[in-house]
Amino acid sequence: MRCKGCKRETTFLSARLGYCVHCIREGKDGALERAQHVHLQGRIPYRLPTQIPQDPQGVECTFCGNACRIPPEEKGFCGTKANQDGKLVHLVGDRDKGKLHWYYDPLPTNCVAHWVCAGCSPAGYPQYSHSSEAEYGYQNLAVFYASCTFDCLFCQNWSYKVSYSCERLLVTADDLVKRALEPSTSCICFFGGDPSSQILHALATSYEVLRKRRDILRICWETNGNMSRKLLEQVIQISLTTGGTIKFDLKAWNPRLHRALCGVDNRTTLSNFHYASHFMGERQDPPLLVASTLLIPGYIDPQEVADIARFIASCNPAIPYSLLAFHPQHLMEDLPPTPRQWAMECLEAAQKEGLENVHLGNIHLLW
Ligand code: SF4
Ligand code: SF4
Repeated sequence: MRCKGCKRETTFLSARLGYCVHCIREGKDGALERAQHVHLQGRIPYRLPTQIPQDPQGVECTFCGNACRIPPEEKGFCGTKANQDGKLVHLVGDRDKGKLHWYYDPLPTNCVAHWVCAGCSPAGYPQYSHSSEAEYGYQNLAVFYASCTFDCLFCQNWSYKVSYSCERLLVTADDLVKRALEPSTSCICFFGGDPSSQILHALATSYEVLRKRRDILRICWETNGNMSRKLLEQVIQISLTTGGTIKFDLKAWNPRLHRALCGVDNRTTLSNFHYASHFMGERQDPPLLVASTLLIPGYIDPQEVADIARFIASCNPAIPYSLLAFHPQHLMEDLPPTPRQWAMECLEAAQKEGLENVHLGNIHLLW
């Protein structure tokens, strides 16, 4: 296919985006506008705001880096907050109303951090794990929040948008703990969607769990990292005390590419990651932080991976980094899964930046 910007024949080009990675990174005329249009069209069917509301007279939300200013009787970008009678209200996502579903994953599982975490590897034993190997016989409680503060065109879990409109998914934090926590649960992972959009619920659930259970129970997060610093501080302390891992998805380095692919800025994510890296020394086994990046053919290339890896190494070279093979999904379903050659070049690019532990995940998807 031919890129609409540079007119070059390009092997991996998203038909919806129409522009290659180079044109997007350089901000070629029309490239970002086109991406913005794709986001807008993609959100209409789910009744989500088509862009971050920025009404100067609107109510301000500071829960994440999007810093929505929500006009009267409308919703914030993530759809979980609204301006009602001039006040910011939680439609969902506070202690009383999590929009989510949950399920159990027997350990060891295919968790993003599996090769270094206390549930699936020898790490963390005996303080944070029942076993000096993987924790066979135990299970992870996976809590899937049906909302997000990003709008990734390649989202691997985009079904959250469909379930967002489902009233049956509402559950209080206390009820979640009562109904979902089993004696064999040794870790909880908050993901989605993204827990950042319903962070008050995830925090309330965590505190309730900590009140009820004194034995091994790690609390982990799989997140885009787009949350206020104050909330992140709580997330860090919870994971530090429980032996849990915060899995930061660093989706792109170049700000234009990040905006084109994810619909929003990556400044808060990067700054939060840098901040969280200062706590790595407080607990080395298992690592508090793990970074991951999805290798989208044509878009997340060796250059992008090298830039992300350099940033991670500048924070702390011991932070484990996982490169994940992509599966065609959502609005980038016309791209193929990650080719093996592409993944190997990205892996090499990351290793050259001085990281001590780079891993290739989802290898069954490579071709
Ligand atoms: S949490 Fe973020 S996306 Fe949601 S309303 Fe608040 S600022 Fe906007
Ligand atoms: S939820 Fe945490 S402890 Fe459990 S498998 Fe995933 S990273 Fe490991």
